[in-house]
Amino acid sequence: MDRTSRIRIGADSGMKFRHNRAPFYRAQEWQPLEQNDHAQPAVQIFLTQNAFIRICAHAGSDLNNEVGGWLIGKTYLDNETDKPFIVINTVLPAEFTLHGSAFLTFTQDSQVKLHETLNDLYPDLMLLGWFHTHPRMGVFFSEWDRWLHENFFPEPWQVGLVIEPYSAAGGFFQKQMDGSLDTRHYFGFYELFQRRRRSIMHWRNLAPVEKLMNT
Ligand SMILES: [Zn+2]
Repeated sequence: MDRTSRIRIGADSGMKFRHNRAPFYRAQEWQPLEQNDHAQPAVQIFLTQNAFIRICAHAGSDLNNEVGGWLIGKTYLDNETDKPFIVINTVLPAEFTLHGSAFLTFTQDSQVKLHETLNDLYPDLMLLGWFHTHPRMGVFFSEWDRWLHENFFPEPWQVGLVIEPYSAAGGFFQKQMDGSLDTRHYFGFYELFQRRRRSIMHWRNLAPVEKLMNT
C-alpha cells in the first residue's frame, strides 16, 4: 500500500495524491440540464455504481426527514493531465436523521466513531465528503449546509451531495479552482461502471453529456 497517499481529516499538510489513469473509458458523465459554463470544479468526481445504489437506498429510507452520511474513497491525479479526481467507492450512512440538534451529532460525536469505522473497515480509503437529503426542498446548499461543509469538509477534494428523493434529483456541491463554493449551482459526476457497462442513473435533473452537447 502506498502510504504517502493516505489522507486523514484535517491533516492535509504534505498530502500527496497518487497518480492513476482517470477511468473516463468506463464511465458515463452526467451533468445538470442547466449547466454553468464558467464553473471550474476543483476535482472531477467519479461515483461507483455500488456507492450510488447505497446512497439511493439510504436517501429513500426516510422520506419525511433529512438523512445522510459520508462519502468514502480515494483521491488521485490523472496520469495524462495531472488534474485531480476522486473516486467515491462506498458510503457510510449516518444512523440518525439530520434535523435539529442531530446535525451537531452528525458533525461532532460521530466524527470519533467515523474515524474508528474508517480505520477498521476501510484503512486505505479517505473521507471525501458527505451526502444528505432535502425531501421536497430541492437541490441546493442551505446556509447551514455551507457552514457545515466549510468547517468539516474544507479540502478542495471534499464534496457534498444533496439528494431530493421525491423528484429523483441530486447534485454535488464542491469548491471551484478559485476556492469559492457556489450554493446554488451543483455539479454532475462520472458514473463509474462496474460489472456491466450499463447506466443505472435515474436522477431526472442530470443528463448524459453527449445529449447536452447535441441540444
Ligand atoms: Zn441541506
